[in-house]
Amino acid sequence: GTLSIASILAETARRHPERPALWFMGQATTYGDLWDQTRAYAGALAARGIGQGSRVAMIVPNVPDFARVYYATLALGAVVVPVHLLFRTDEIEFVLTDARADVVVVAAPMLAEAAPAAARAGVPMLTVLVPDAVKQQLAAQGTEVARLEEEAAAAVPIERHVGTNPLAAATILYTSGTTGTPKGAVGSHLAMVEQVHCSLIDSFDLRPDDVVYGGLPFFHSFGQMAVLNMAFRRGASIVLLPRFDPDEALELLVAHGATVFTAVPTNFAGMVEAARRSPARPPLRYAVSGGAALPVALLEAFEEAYGAQVHEGYGLTETSPSCTFNVTSEPIRPGTVGRSMWGVDVAVAVAEVQDRVELLPSGLGEIVVRGHNLMKGYLGRPDATAEAVVDGWFRTGDLGTVDADGIVTIVDRTKDMIIRNGYNVYPTEVEAVLARYPGVAMAAVFGVPDARRGQEVHAAVVPSHGADVDPDAVVAYMKEHVAAYKYPRVVHVAADLPLGPSGKVLKRELTAQHADPAV
Ligand code: ATP
Repeated sequence: GTLSIASILAETARRHPERPALWFMGQATTYGDLWDQTRAYAGALAARGIGQGSRVAMIVPNVPDFARVYYATLALGAVVVPVHLLFRTDEIEFVLTDARADVVVVAAPMLAEAAPAAARAGVPMLTVLVPDAVKQQLAAQGTEVARLEEEAAAAVPIERHVGTNPLAAATILYTSGTTGTPKGAVGSHLAMVEQVHCSLIDSFDLRPDDVVYGGLPFFHSFGQMAVLNMAFRRGASIVLLPRFDPDEALELLVAHGATVFTAVPTNFAGMVEAARRSPARPPLRYAVSGGAALPVALLEAFEEAYGAQVHEGYGLTETSPSCTFNVTSEPIRPGTVGRSMWGVDVAVAVAEVQDRVELLPSGLGEIVVRGHNLMKGYLGRPDATAEAVVDGWFRTGDLGTVDADGIVTIVDRTKDMIIRNGYNVYPTEVEAVLARYPGVAMAAVFGVPDARRGQEVHAAVVPSHGADVDPDAVVAYMKEHVAAYKYPRVVHVAADLPLGPSGKVLKRELTAQHADPAV
């Protein structure tokens, strides 16, 4: 084989060894040092028998060890299986078993959930960042933990990364399960190389002297590709934040002079709130949003607070992930997700047809995607793969349009669509109006089973810091601004929304919270 996504780090380290790759807790790790440490980690994994095709699961937050374990695994031609950080023992056990992991690398804070999972799945566990006191405490309880750091110090570092077959698996990324049981999307080296070297690099202007916000979780495709791999491709620096907190994020961005902010819409809402509490601003050149619909009102509020344009893109784990983007070299088209990216073919197909893809010349339909960026399939799920990939097109399950200029608009997920009295209600559209209501920081619209109408439209709103939001007034406002079948009949004022590990609103959970058990 000849290809490896690990070359991103190897190349940048060779060219710019002195440049800082990562900033964490005020400390910089240069590209040269990071590659040396990665080669040592790879040596330790190799000593444990990890090689081409092995599977290395990892439960590590956005700290420098994420990069070391990730690239060490890829450099050996092994497959990385990053586990969602909020997964509990049962969910971790599911992933370790489903992915048939050969080893799992666990960071100290995740030990309590991960150790029993690894034991039950029969997968050997290596740790990072476990303090001596914790190690001794565990030993007293009869649990000996093996430290990857120690094994790396004793190991012979690998010389260079191995080249693999371009179509060999590189990652198995479990869809976060916003919509059901997690499935492992298998991504190839080719898909990742195409995404970074062709699609992302062509879409946003990232420079070696950029300082990129690194709070988007790396276990998720968006953070992994658009932040980690993309920044490393350019030799930019990433400022790591293991857990998103808007005030902390703002402070960190200011302290490091961050120039690029890449995040999901709920993070943008948090940053707008943080800006009300603190006058300091980072020197942002622009921001990137993806992962969920960004209401135009929020885009505008962020621009006003930070003086930086937000460029929205669209993608899915299964497509490595980005498919479309409002590129940084052109004026943005607010409310749209921009044009298809270099190498990605985006079209609209008849949503109702199941066994073939029937492309539509125009109008509303299911967004379908084709390109080298596509996953190889869902691990061990040929049925689900055959349903998702039809005639070479990946069916996204999202409804949208592509206009004559190639501009893509996402209307909503098919699964989130509410059918009230036979009328289709698209939550995203209603949320965009709700976001304009004064004092609303975040809003989510969801369906609740209703005996008479099938489903009823509900909304959950989070008030802005210090604002008082009257639910009846919101209902009245919405009634005035959207059609009768669409406006939320019930508005719940909440302190926060249930968020998934990547920062997306869990609508399923909202529905469950507010459903009447009698219906
Ligand atoms: P699951 O697919 O299991 O529900 P998930 O939401 O975490 O989990 P992802 O692959 O991260 O899975 O999400 C992809 C989905 O996110 C897309 O199908 C689409 O519905 C939504 N999405 C991503 N970007 C945008 C965007 N800019 N506008 C609207 N929706 C978006």
